[in-house]
Amino acid sequence: MQFARFPYQKRIKEFDFAAQPAVDRRLVEELATGRFLSEGRNIIFLGPPGVGKTHLAIALGEVTAELGHRVYFTTAIEMARKLTKAMHENRLSRELKNLTRPKLLIIDEVGYLSLEPAEASLVFQVISHRYERQGAVILTSNKAFGAWGEVFAGDAVMASAALDRLLHRCTVVNIRGESYRLKEKMRAGENGYAAEAANILTTA
Ligand code: ADP
Ligand code: MG
Repeated sequence: MQFARFPYQKRIKEFDFAAQPAVDRRLVEELATGRFLSEGRNIIFLGPPGVGKTHLAIALGEVTAELGHRVYFTTAIEMARKLTKAMHENRLSRELKNLTRPKLLIIDEVGYLSLEPAEASLVFQVISHRYERQGAVILTSNKAFGAWGEVFAGDAVMASAALDRLLHRCTVVNIRGESYRLKEKMRAGENGYAAEAANILTTA
């Protein structure tokens, strides 16, 4: 658990499936058996902010750690920055190994911040290395696959090569709907501010 560096703890049992009909409870329970790990299967959670992507990614990461496997949690931008630093300090191959070896790598928030071209190619290398070793990746993104060119610094060729590897063995969970956080606030009767914010999010 310490190695994984989860930003906080989230459990599958804390996930309110009734509030999120786009997420199939049986599918999540199947994923929580950890079979996807031995199959080298990836999981991609797609959707707007606040719909539970990071929650589910962490929860599956915790299950994986409890099964006795190494897990490493990072965001796309943190990983890109670390790799860039390592490259400048002549220790890129060691950093790449650190990201390739864990049984499960969780890359959160792909697409929230755009990558520089050099960063995009480093992230691509991680995806490619893990694909070659059949190492499972859980990835979350707010960007539909069609917009991944932007994620990879405008390089549509690199984006489709990355997607090709990720999607070869992959479960994609498309989550829709409103932010759970804002919904909770509105249910609690907190003024027009949250309602307005929710409106902006759903119409964006
Ligand atoms: P995302 O990563 O999609 O932006 P998060 O996973 O960070 O969203 O969810 C935002 C907050 O709302 C978190 O505290 C999360 O635990 C909670 N949350 C989201 N969806 C659900 C849900 N269906 N049931 C319980 N909590 C949820
Ligand atoms: Mg998130």
